[in-house]
Parts: sequence; structure tokens; C-alpha cells
Amino acid sequence: MVFLQEQLAPFIGQLVLKADGNAKNIPFDKIKEQVLTSIKTFGKELLFCFPDFAIRIHLMLFGKYAINHALNRALRLGLTFETGEINFYACDCRLITKPLDEVYDWSTDVLHASFNPDKAWQKLMSKPQRLICEALLDQEILAGVGNGIKNEVLFQSQIHPESLIGEIPEAALKNLILAGVKLSAEYLTWLQEETSKEHWQVYQQKICPRDQIPLRKEKIGKSGRSSYFCDKCQHLYLPDITE
Ligand SMILES: [Zn+2]
Repeated sequence: MVFLQEQLAPFIGQLVLKADGNAKNIPFDKIKEQVLTSIKTFGKELLFCFPDFAIRIHLMLFGKYAINHALNRALRLGLTFETGEINFYACDCRLITKPLDEVYDWSTDVLHASFNPDKAWQKLMSKPQRLICEALLDQEILAGVGNGIKNEVLFQSQIHPESLIGEIPEAALKNLILAGVKLSAEYLTWLQEETSKEHWQVYQQKICPRDQIPLRKEKIGKSGRSSYFCDKCQHLYLPDITE
């Protein structure tokens, strides 16, 4: 979302000339004639901020957007400014009238300057029986980490996705959080350079770059999201049942 935020930055300070779409509970008539004061992001959410309210956009899995052109599908939310337009499709749109600092805990956003790794670690440790591959996608712990980053950091850190949080050594878990923050920032650069696909080592790949053996691809945990991993070089941390 930070990537999109940067692309939309030229619209900040501009008046909305037209606002339309089929999104429910969005006051299109109220947005018109308002000045876009800023664009913020929180994890995978994009926030269009106006003087008295904000519009929250979440692209979900199938959301699309188009800048300065339209797609041939039902418009969810379209904003026309003096110098261009942004159109959103198949996304989730919400009106936020409370101050954003009350709604969002910025310290959980891996791309935010106030991200707090110790707090993330404590939140992870509060559910020690949870699978690490599921917890990494928890947007209340690590906002902004998506499925690609999840798979890549687990591979980098040599942790098997089915490991239980409470069984992972403290230092390894803390390093995993920091690796996630670092990779999220790098991923943003790759998006800007349009090279993101070249950098994935295991996500959507077939062969382990360390061992040159086939990777496994499985839907693990309740989230149903795919995990790509190597059984050989990613350690599975489980309770020692012989104790
Ligand atoms: Zn391997």
C-alpha cells in the first residue's frame, strides 16, 4: 500500500471534483469539493484523509485499482481530482469518522517509523501454541506482512512454517520479526523498480536455492494461505514429546 500511496502523492492538496461508485456507506456527496489533506497507509489499508473524516480502502484478495484510466468492471470508488483520477474495484471501502490515532495502533505497522518489534514479540508469545506461518499474517501483530513476505522470511530464517511459536528459540523469533521488517522495506523498493518477482527465493518457486531439491507447497493453518518451504533446511520447532 505504501507503493500506491507514493503513486497517489500528487493528488494531495487537491480538490475532489467528482466522487462516485457503488460502495455502501460512503458519503459520495460529502467527499465532493473536499480537499485531500493526506494519504496514509496502515498495513494493507490505504487511507484517504479529508478534514473531518477518512476513507479506508482495503484491496482484499481481488481488489484492483487504476490511476488516470478506468477498468471495464463495476466501479466501487472513484475520485476525480484536478489533475487526474483514481478508481478502485472489488475492494472494501469504509468511512472513518474517529481520529485515526484512536483507530490505528501505528506501532504494529512494519513499514511505520514507530513500529515496535518488542511489542510484536510479546503479542506473538501470548499465543505460544499458534503456528508461526499463521501468526505472521496476523495484521494486529505485524500489519503489512503478506503471504509472500511470510514465506520468504521463514525461509531466510530457516524456520519451518508449521513450527509452534512457543518452541522457537527467543533469539530466532526476534530475528524473524526484524527480518520481516527489513524484507517489507526491501519489497517496497522492488515494487518501485518492478523487479519484485525476481527476488522471491521460495514464494511461488519450485526448487530450494540452498539444497536444490523440490520445495513443498501446502495450505497450512486456518488461514488457508499457501506456504512454500523446504523440509531439509527449515527447522521444525515442535515440543519434545520424549520429555
Ligand atoms: Zn532447503
